[in-house]
Amino acid sequence: MRPTVILRACPDYDVARIERLAYEGLETLGLTPSGRVLCKPNVVASGKHFPHAHTRPEFMEGVLRALKRKGQGIEELAMGERCGITVPTRYAYRGAGYYAMAKRVGGVRMYHFDEVPQVEIPLYHPERLRDALYTPEPVAKADFFVNCPKFKAHPWTTVTFSMKNYIGIQDDRHRLIDHDHRLNEKVADLQYIVQPQFIAIDAITAGEGRMLTPIPFDLGLVAMGNNQVAFDAVCCHIIGIDPLSVDHIRMAHERGFGPVDLKAIDIVGDLSLDEAKDKASGFRSGLIRVEDYFKGTNIHAYSGPPPGDGGHDYCWGGCPGALEEAIEILRVFDEATDAKMPPTHIVFGKYDGRIDAKPGETVVFIGDCAEFSGRIGERDVVIENRYVDRSRHDPLQAKGTDIYAKMLKVGIDLRRNQVAKDVIRLSGCPVSVSEHVLALVSLGKLKNPFFEASNAVLYTSAYLSWRTRQAIHKVTGQPYNRPGPMARGAARPRLSLPPPDHDAPLEVR
Ligand code: SF4
Repeated sequence: MRPTVILRACPDYDVARIERLAYEGLETLGLTPSGRVLCKPNVVASGKHFPHAHTRPEFMEGVLRALKRKGQGIEELAMGERCGITVPTRYAYRGAGYYAMAKRVGGVRMYHFDEVPQVEIPLYHPERLRDALYTPEPVAKADFFVNCPKFKAHPWTTVTFSMKNYIGIQDDRHRLIDHDHRLNEKVADLQYIVQPQFIAIDAITAGEGRMLTPIPFDLGLVAMGNNQVAFDAVCCHIIGIDPLSVDHIRMAHERGFGPVDLKAIDIVGDLSLDEAKDKASGFRSGLIRVEDYFKGTNIHAYSGPPPGDGGHDYCWGGCPGALEEAIEILRVFDEATDAKMPPTHIVFGKYDGRIDAKPGETVVFIGDCAEFSGRIGERDVVIENRYVDRSRHDPLQAKGTDIYAKMLKVGIDLRRNQVAKDVIRLSGCPVSVSEHVLALVSLGKLKNPFFEASNAVLYTSAYLSWRTRQAIHKVTGQPYNRPGPMARGAARPRLSLPPPDHDAPLEVR
C-alpha cells in the first residue's frame, strides 16, 4: 500500500470515538493485528505536573480496544515504554493512569522497558553511528508494532512525532549514548530496529514549545498512518515546517524509509491537510538556542561548538536543551524559581567569548566537552575538554544510574569540581535533564521536585517495586535488563520495510 496518512477530527478524549477512529484507520490501511501486538506510547513524564507530556490514557484505551476488536490470532496485546528523567517507568505509568486503563481494556500486558532484557540489533548501513543498538526484548519480538506518540514540539529535535518516539525503545543506559550533537543521527539509526505497522498520534491536545512541560495546544486531531517518514512529514506540514529541515526525518528519508514529498503520500480522512493546517495555525515548535531561551532571567547562558564530529556549531541534542527542560520543570514545581535563582553563568561547549560574571556570581561549565581559557572577573580560568570520543563508549559497559546515584554524583561534582572560587564544572555527556534539575536546585536553593511531598509515596513505591524486581531477577538468575543473545537472529527480519539500499550484508549475525 502507498504511504498513507489519515487525518481525523477529534475534539476531545472520548474513548468510544477514539476507538472508532482507530478501528476505521486499521480498516483503511488494510491492517489486521496478529501475533505479538505491542503498542509504544510516549510517556516521557506524567502525573499532575506533566499533564500534556504523554499520550493520554483515553487515547491508548481507544487504540487498544480497536486493536483487540480488529485483531485475528492475537497472541499477546501489550504496551511498553521507557519513560524519561530517570524515574521508574512504573511511576510514569501510574501517573498517566495506564494501569487502570489497561484493566478496563482487559488482557493487556504492561512492559516496563527498564525491567526487561535488552537485546542487540546489529546495524549495517554505512552512515550508522555504531555497529549495534540495544532494545528491549518485547520490541525485538513484536509481530505487529503500533507507535502511539504525542504530537509535541521538542527543544532538541524541533518536533517529536513518530520517529522521535523511538528514544523510549532503549533503556537509560543506551538511551543516553549518542544523545548529544548527533541525536538526530541516533534517532535515524533507531528506525532500523523496527518499523510500525500502524501509527496513531495523540494530537487532540498537542504540546507546544518543549516536550516535558509543553504548553497545551487544542489541535483536535487524530492522525494515523503506515509509514513513519511520510507520517512525520505530514505532521511537519500541518505546523508549517519543512520536513527536510528536521534532520532525523531527512536522514530516514534519504536512507529509504519513506517519502516526504506530499505527491508520494495519500492523505485521506475527514480533514484535509489545509484544514489541519488551519487548526494548527500559530503552533510554536522547539529549537531555541540556550542563550536566547534564558534572556531576561538570572541565568546567563553561553555556548560554543560541541566536538567536531558531525560538523555542528551547537549541541542541539545534549546539555543545552536539557537545561531548558530542567528550568521549566522547576518552574512548574515552584513559581518563584526565577526570583530565587541567583545570577548564574552557565557555559556549554568550546567557548571563547567573554563571561560577564561579577564577584560572587557562580559560573558553571556543563558537560565533558566544555572548554575555556580566559579571564573570569579577576582570575585566569582554564577548563579542559574532557570529551571522550563515542567510539570509546561500549554499550555493553554502559551503567544505569538511578536518581539517587545522580543526586550523589551532582552533589560531588558541585562540591569537588570547583575549578576556582565560584567556578564549577559538571561532568557527563550528556548531562541529563534530571542532573540539570538537581544542579539548579542546589545552586538556587530551590524546591527539589524529586522530594515533593505529594510525589513521595508514589515515587518510593514505584522505585522499590522496580528495585525489588531487579533483585528477584538477579537471585533467580533470569536475565534482567542485560543484553541477551536472543535477538541475534530474531529482530532483524522483523523490519516491515525493505532494507535500505546499501552494499553491506543483510544477513543476521
Ligand atoms: S558534553 Fe553535552 S554539550 Fe558536549 S557534546 Fe556532550 S551532550 Fe553535547
